[in-house]
Amino acid sequence: MTNLRIGHGYDVHRLVEGRPLILGGVEIVWEKGLLGHSDADVLTHAVMDAISGAARLGDIGTLFPDTDPAYAGISSLKLLKEVAALLAAQGFCVVNLDVTLLAQAPKVAPYRRQMAENLAKALGISQDQVNVKATTEEGLGFTGDGSGMAAHAVVLLETI
Ligand code: MG
Repeated sequence: MTNLRIGHGYDVHRLVEGRPLILGGVEIVWEKGLLGHSDADVLTHAVMDAISGAARLGDIGTLFPDTDPAYAGISSLKLLKEVAALLAAQGFCVVNLDVTLLAQAPKVAPYRRQMAENLAKALGISQDQVNVKATTEEGLGFTGDGSGMAAHAVVLLETI
């Protein structure tokens, strides 16, 4: 019998002026960027937490502490590659990954393909195993007023 594991990841970052906006490894020209110790790629962070959850690796805060200067400004795709290596070492591979970005603006539809490609490449899987989508929250809450962005990710793993 195939051994399947499901995992969910959720992350939030604050939007501030003077920071680049990086989502799924794509730098998007925008008036604000996400604040964080790494590149603050909220989408990729949710993916790492989903995988960590499914494979019982804990969470990204434990794997990559934000008190460690080694991770200052680091590309989250690099960290995702490390998570992929840990995942393989645990005997798991990704069946599929579904990610939802919650943001009022900017429109990310033009970048979704590239984001999926970046995530797939970092995980060593095919792009057709990854889906990236986005929604607004109708102007409500912290994503609605533009003070932050959030992301959810769900991943299905199977034993190698
Ligand atoms: Mg984060």
